[in-house]
Amino acid sequence: MSTATVVGSGPNGLAAAVTLARAGLDVTVLEAADEIGGGTRSGEVTLPGLVHDHCSAIHPLAVATAFSRSVDLGAHGLSWAWPEVQYSHPLDGAATDSATGGAGAAVYRSVDRTAASLGKDAATWRAVFGPLSRNFADVTEDFLRPMVHLPTHPLKLAHFGAFAGLPAAVTARLWRTPQARALFGGVAAHAFRPFHTLGSSAIGTALGTAAHTFGWPAAVGGSAAIARAMADTLESLGGRIETGVRVRSLADVPDARIVMLDTSPRAAVEIAGSAMPAAVSRALSRYRHGPGAFAVHFAVEGGIPWTHEPSRQAGTVHVGGSFGEISAAERQVNRGVMPERPFVLVTQQSVADPSRAVDGVHPVDTYAHVPAGFRGDATAAVIAQIERFAPGFRDRIVAQTSWDVDHIENADPNFIGGDIVTGANSLRQLLFRPRIALDPYRTGGRGTGRGIYLCSAATPPGAGAHGMCGWNAADSALRELGLTA
Ligand SMILES: Cc1cc2nc3c(=O)[nH]c(=O)nc-3n(C[C@H](O)[C@H](O)[C@H](O)COP(=O)(O)OP(=O)(O)OC[C@H]3O[C@@H](n4cnc5c(N)ncnc54)[C@H](O)[C@@H]3O)c2cc1C
Repeated sequence: MSTATVVGSGPNGLAAAVTLARAGLDVTVLEAADEIGGGTRSGEVTLPGLVHDHCSAIHPLAVATAFSRSVDLGAHGLSWAWPEVQYSHPLDGAATDSATGGAGAAVYRSVDRTAASLGKDAATWRAVFGPLSRNFADVTEDFLRPMVHLPTHPLKLAHFGAFAGLPAAVTARLWRTPQARALFGGVAAHAFRPFHTLGSSAIGTALGTAAHTFGWPAAVGGSAAIARAMADTLESLGGRIETGVRVRSLADVPDARIVMLDTSPRAAVEIAGSAMPAAVSRALSRYRHGPGAFAVHFAVEGGIPWTHEPSRQAGTVHVGGSFGEISAAERQVNRGVMPERPFVLVTQQSVADPSRAVDGVHPVDTYAHVPAGFRGDATAAVIAQIERFAPGFRDRIVAQTSWDVDHIENADPNFIGGDIVTGANSLRQLLFRPRIALDPYRTGGRGTGRGIYLCSAATPPGAGAHGMCGWNAADSALRELGLTA
């Protein structure tokens, strides 16, 4: 039986491990931390009994993928919960919508329901997201793979690409109201890219469309349920996981025919050493990381008192004000400057999964976009941004814990400088990550009798707790062995 060692137990490492084990390989996962899961870990970080998601909290692209269809994670304890409002965007008073009791805008699963509250932009929202969301299940078949392949749905992919390839600042001109423009700015900001750059619409278009097609669910009980379900599946297939083992070189994985690295490209270069061709090693060393995140976890009595009523029903709230304001803040963090009012992403998982609240206290996980390697404390800026749209929030905070970029990187070495998306989403790295290659996962080992693969979020399709990088990398390894995923 062929043996495979997976280095790292993030969602991509575990997805690769499960896929290899299903194909009959003898799989061992080695994880540096004491706990499995990488970016899907959860735990008590503010008060006893209150479960926070350390990193990934909401999972727009995890529910309907080639990987999720290939395994029954539900049978291993994973279930999803959807909020009523998929994501929302509170705004200052000038954009007040009296129908929704407070300024702002909200996105529902239904395109029509969303459009109905967007006034002059209703028809455009329908015209853009109606067709995109009807096609999205097909488009993800192509979009969640490396760019270089024969598309299964070329016309639908081209239609999606026509929006995705634009600068977010150009796409936003489709809309005239501050509400619709802000909604797009909030999803586009997930890319951590300046809005004037080519391709800065790609992640916003994908996540915005996913909200209508699949929704933005939370894992019931916390994101750690995702890793637990994958680990359980792996063990049911005969695989093993060892924690507290940091792999530093191939000498630490002597017997493996397949070595699957759920690491940063930089770490892959170090681990593979001379087994990696010099050209690959040079290309991976040139891989660029983006801005950082500063996380603040709050225990909030009664939840956040947003003045924009629908935001109280939203799993995710984008806090940053108008499209122009978010655009300016994203430009600053990309230049290495900390904005006074950063873009803040707020997740309220208890809205979808009430079991997360304990005695009326709700776990709220937030992060601000900050420059790479930011050394300051962004806690006050995060609180001020939320308080701006939810007066009284400060008084409801029962406990809080802040994690700066060093803490984030120490907890998971893939998040270099606090870069939680494991690589800058420049046009080049969106299209070809981690390097330009027909098979971006294969990183070396030819002639040594073993295959070395990179499977982390630094490979296509990029960040998110969807496991698709791992699934694709395992598929590449299996094809080389003459097996199928
Ligand atoms: C604050 C924050 C919020 C986020 N929010 C969301 C969200 O809401 N939704 C979403 O979809 N995504 C979110 N993400 C991103 C998401 O968590 C990542 O994209 C995802 O976890 C990447 O998965 P991965 O398997 O590639 O790597 P990781 O999850 O980073 O896992 C890598 C694992 O490999 C281990 N490892 C690395 N090097 C070694 C080594 N040499 N030896 C042994 N083990 C090693 C690490 O310890 C880690 O456990 C967030 C991330 C952060 C930090």
